[in-house]
Amino acid sequence: MTEELKNLYANIHVNHVFKDMEECKNCSISCSAPKWISWLLPDEVDTYKKYGFNLIQSGKANFFKDGHCHKCKEGVGCTIYDERSLECRLTPLTVLKIENELWWILTKVCPIIKNSNQNKLEEIILKVNLSIDEIETAMTQSILEKISDICDSINNFTNLHNGEDYIKVRKIISI
Ligand code: SF4
Ligand code: SF4
Repeated sequence: MTEELKNLYANIHVNHVFKDMEECKNCSISCSAPKWISWLLPDEVDTYKKYGFNLIQSGKANFFKDGHCHKCKEGVGCTIYDERSLECRLTPLTVLKIENELWWILTKVCPIIKNSNQNKLEEIILKVNLSIDEIETAMTQSILEKISDICDSINNFTNLHNGEDYIKVRKIISI
């Protein structure tokens, strides 16, 4: 694993926002969601191949085949937790290119994001913004450019995402 990736992983604390929420207990939704394509950074591909993942490559992006992951075990959760990808670490926060701009978004694949009322969502977004501050500080230009390329490939690969699938949080620092 590269140093820049190790440093970025160490600065992702999105989990803390959702810590202790009832919905997270036994949740495997982010690992098996049929409507959200999981992507990998180029530097993460070898790790996933090592674990026998069947990946689809499209442009600069590598996706889990069918968006599913076979490393989630019922009652246990992620069995490769320490080596999981950036996207796995961010969930339910992720990145999408919308009208040629990179956005941090919260996906409604997560039941908390989908079902929370406006007040609860505002509370979550406030906390998520603090996590984003930390992540953006640790994110190198090189990783950001790779994510941007991946987002272009996602948009070419799938039209699954529409405005009803996610909540925009804020634009990503310009690249
Ligand atoms: S997807 Fe949502 S409910 Fe599931 S573990 Fe993540 S934050 Fe919790
Ligand atoms: S690697 Fe782990 S966290 Fe990521 S999708 Fe698979 S089981 Fe879930």
